Amino acid sequence: MLLGAPGAGKGTQAARLVDTYGLAHISTGDILRAAVAAGTPLGLTAKSYMDKGELVPDIVVIGLVKARLQEPDAAAGFILDGFPRTVTQADALSKELDALGKQLDAVISIEVDRTALIDRLTARRTCRQCGAIFNVIAQPETANGVCPACGGELFQRDDDTVETVSNRLAVYERSTAPLIDYYASKGLLKRIDGNRPVDDVFAQIRGVVEGSAR
Ligand code: AMP
Repeated sequence: MLLGAPGAGKGTQAARLVDTYGLAHISTGDILRAAVAAGTPLGLTAKSYMDKGELVPDIVVIGLVKARLQEPDAAAGFILDGFPRTVTQADALSKELDALGKQLDAVISIEVDRTALIDRLTARRTCRQCGAIFNVIAQPETANGVCPACGGELFQRDDDTVETVSNRLAVYERSTAPLIDYYASKGLLKRIDGNRPVDDVFAQIRGVVEGSAR
């Protein structure tokens, strides 16, 4: 499980973990954005919360994750990215994993200073085609709006604007940060310095994954 504030690098590191270990990537944010893009009833409900930087209700995301965990690609292992975000979600996850006879190997808390989080979120651009994530300040070659990986269109997420970002960080502090103690008390928590360059952060994460694989 990757735990961390919005902008900590969970999505970037999850993509690397998927490439390296062939794990299923379970990102509730991605699932919700796909529902929004498809205009489903779930998407319409979710959008009203997401646009304000609020959490989508627990009952909705818990149902999504339960279904996703049962898909075939999750059988050989998975990375949770952006879930759980509340203690209620964490309790539901624990029950569901028990029911499936699975357990978490590690909870990796990616820790980044607040000023860096704000800078990263407002500079983030995502490829509409391949989903790759870039930073328009650190990677000025992306300022033309074209994905360097696949040539697709880069866009700014609706919730990465300055106004929404501060609420997302407040919601994180209030609802999600308590999960750090929650998982520390279960002996699962590994803290990573997420202020470092992407490759260094990934090296730290690999160390945790390889040290905790069952
Ligand atoms: P993310 O891509 O993980 O930053 O998620 C984007 C938005 O989707 C969040 O700001 C929430 O509105 C919603 N969301 C994603 N994951 C969850 C979750 N586990 N619980 C509630 N809302 C979520």
